[in-house]
Amino acid sequence: MQRRTKIVATLGPATDDPKILDKIIEAGVDVVRINFSHGTPEEHLERAERLRNRARAHGRQVGVLADLQGPKIRIDQFRNGQVTLAEGDTFILDAACGPQDGDQERVGITYKQLPDDLSRGDTLLLDDGRIVLWVDQVEGQQIICRVVVGGDLKDRKGINRQGGGLSAPALTEKDRHDIKLAARMQADYLAVSFPRTADDMDQARALLHAAGGRGGLVAKIERAEALDVVDEIIAASDAIMIARGDLGVEIGDAALPPVQKRLITRARDMNRVVITATQMMESMIENQIPTRAEVFDVANSVLDGTDAVMLSAETAAGKYPDKAIAAMDRVCREAEKQREATTSAHRIHSEFTHIDEAIAMASMYTANHLNVKAIASLTESGSTPLWMSRISSGIPIYAMTRHVDTRRKVTLFRGVYPVSFDVTTADHVQVNREAIDELLRRGAVRDGDLVIITKGDLMGVHGGTNAIKIVKVGELV
Ligand code: PEP
Repeated sequence: MQRRTKIVATLGPATDDPKILDKIIEAGVDVVRINFSHGTPEEHLERAERLRNRARAHGRQVGVLADLQGPKIRIDQFRNGQVTLAEGDTFILDAACGPQDGDQERVGITYKQLPDDLSRGDTLLLDDGRIVLWVDQVEGQQIICRVVVGGDLKDRKGINRQGGGLSAPALTEKDRHDIKLAARMQADYLAVSFPRTADDMDQARALLHAAGGRGGLVAKIERAEALDVVDEIIAASDAIMIARGDLGVEIGDAALPPVQKRLITRARDMNRVVITATQMMESMIENQIPTRAEVFDVANSVLDGTDAVMLSAETAAGKYPDKAIAAMDRVCREAEKQREATTSAHRIHSEFTHIDEAIAMASMYTANHLNVKAIASLTESGSTPLWMSRISSGIPIYAMTRHVDTRRKVTLFRGVYPVSFDVTTADHVQVNREAIDELLRRGAVRDGDLVIITKGDLMGVHGGTNAIKIVKVGELV
């Protein structure tokens, strides 16, 4: 059985060696994330190109997701690289402090308006919550804090306010430049960090289109206040990423599991794709096998219905990038065996607004109630396989298309596999035959298997799918 859940792996120094890149492709990576928080534009472009070249050499389609840095608020640097804070110490976050002048008493901050957003009684979490500061007083550009949880604090660590609500706008100047870079890279997805509203996503989409980019938009859900308007943000996006690192700091780690489940369900209900991210195999940065807890985390995300699971530092900077992917691969496959739904109430009471949408829903209802082995969706834009894949089923959906953009986009959809398929004839019988032959060549079906084919009367028309055909392999189609 092919794995249905997709694996996103972050590229970084640990994957730059072409031999390692080959290994992660062989291990089954579906989409790579290029993190614009680290590295230069040249490095990002090189990484995308190298990946695509190696994927081509392996005959594989691998998507590219460009991830904007966003307005991550950070402390500046210390004179000595780090300080150690003790509980009860006074420590000042000082917008007037020089960028490298931090010491035991104070440190600079990247977002100079931060003092305006804070008042006495706020709790600040630094370095993903490892250090906790209580705001005692705000005086001009100084945020005077008392250390509640101490420890080593190093240069450039992140700052979050417990409960969220910091006003930094989602798209920074750097992000605006990086959107052009994502367009140049022909990224298949662009992830927007810290969006607060649907408007942030609309703005990013407009900038991407203006730069000539055609990728899908991913909203990283990582601010507490984004949860209040999450339906609007989902509607304005093609996919969401449950960015558990920053989100967990803002809403508290214990609140994450129910939020993850709710977001996965909501995204799927709204016909959007969902990626579950951060610390999924964290211990594999150093170790060759995951902890039992990590195995359960990945498996539970699969059972929740996520489209994709993501690796961050495990692949970008870890010691065993390919082993982390291999571990995810085996955990996903095993978890998927627990979830071969043959019924689904997805949108059973809703009206469909598009003909291709109705065809997608009818196909899945049929596939789930008839012993269908595979679905061949002849598609231009990938919308029909997207609609299909929102319904739980163990049945593989082959997105057969002549468009490379579409083949790359579907790499993120659960249970959907890209197939290069250039229809050379308008003869429908011949098209059906070619589709079945392609599935036979891939070993996806055998003589006697039932296959559903969806396509349009007019081939090559976006949104033109208007037909569903059920055929038995080996019989006249
Ligand atoms: C996160 O915060 O969980 C996340 C995915 O964002 P980043 O890796 O960009 O910090």
